[in-house]
Amino acid sequence: MSPSLTDTLPTDWAYISEGGANIVFVYQGLSSPFFDGTALRLRKRESTDKDKDEKDSTREIQSIEYQKKCLERLIPLVHLPRLELVVSARLHRALERREKDGIDVKLPRALLATNLVGGQGIAVEIKPKWGFLPSPTYLSDSTRPIKTRTCRFCMHSHLKAQQGEKVSSGYCPLDLFSGDETRMKAALNSLWDAWSDSDGTTNNFKVFISGKKILPAERASIVGVVNDMADPKDALISALLPVLTNTSILRTLSCLQRTLDALDIEGLAPLWDLASVGTDPTIAEWAEFVSAYLAAPSPAPPADPAHLRYHVLAYLLSATFKDCSVIVRVPDGTATVIDLDPKSVDRLRKWEEMDKEIVAAYAGVPVADRKVCVDSDVLR
Ligand SMILES: [Zn+2]
Repeated sequence: MSPSLTDTLPTDWAYISEGGANIVFVYQGLSSPFFDGTALRLRKRESTDKDKDEKDSTREIQSIEYQKKCLERLIPLVHLPRLELVVSARLHRALERREKDGIDVKLPRALLATNLVGGQGIAVEIKPKWGFLPSPTYLSDSTRPIKTRTCRFCMHSHLKAQQGEKVSSGYCPLDLFSGDETRMKAALNSLWDAWSDSDGTTNNFKVFISGKKILPAERASIVGVVNDMADPKDALISALLPVLTNTSILRTLSCLQRTLDALDIEGLAPLWDLASVGTDPTIAEWAEFVSAYLAAPSPAPPADPAHLRYHVLAYLLSATFKDCSVIVRVPDGTATVIDLDPKSVDRLRKWEEMDKEIVAAYAGVPVADRKVCVDSDVLR
């Protein structure tokens, strides 16, 4: 039987941070394979917005169910954070007495999760984004030459830069996903440069040392943590690179993104003009979909209104994998996928419009100046 929270003492849990509705503790008790490296998130008592609390709570339970019934069948467990709901009235009461900010003891439920950024060493959070070029099959004659040459992220960066946003302009996800050491190193260099140039405001690269997020101005603190290199950028990238070249997780993610988005939004959108996309899937329907997908991941069923629901769920799941982040820890050498929440059908129309806007903006770039992004899986 696995140990329960009741076996831990209040002094085993150290306060680390809190948000509007939650308060977070990290385990610092005697070494235990069950609790080492975990964090415990408890709900606060005095909340001004009960409706929001209710929704947050439901969403939390759904996310855990979604992970257990769907994601754990698609991503190796070693690359997923541990996530479970635990109950302990006694520990809740003890922590409630110790902390000034009231903890909800009426609902003594907590989320026990892997403490991914804490502990010794460095944790880097990378949001890799879209790791494939679309299949040309369902693209129009006008978009095909554009979308099969420049990847979605690079086109989107161009649009954002036009709109005056700071972007990781040198970064191409296809380099990071390539499996080729030289290209992966170039991708990490670009992510670092954008992080540094934007003063840490780009959303696809974050650095944590012993649990604390650092800004580019604090980069010197990287030196000496994982190796003896004197330059912080060299020190970090040379530590990250072997972890990323030795793990299969990036390949797994790009393969999921690609096979689940077999039609491209251009192939999917005409189908929902012919039939209704329906409502958001239940966990049971998600689980059923994953079984169907795993039985025959490719080729996908034809772009036919009869298969609309399959393609809608596939696209939503692909979107989850396009939007997730990977936390790479050094020197531990682990890579864990986070931010894997289910996406809603309400987003589909917006995604269709966004795709049109991104491609239309990129069509304005002279052909000779368009970036050529290399999809290594297509070359294989
Ligand atoms: Zn690209």
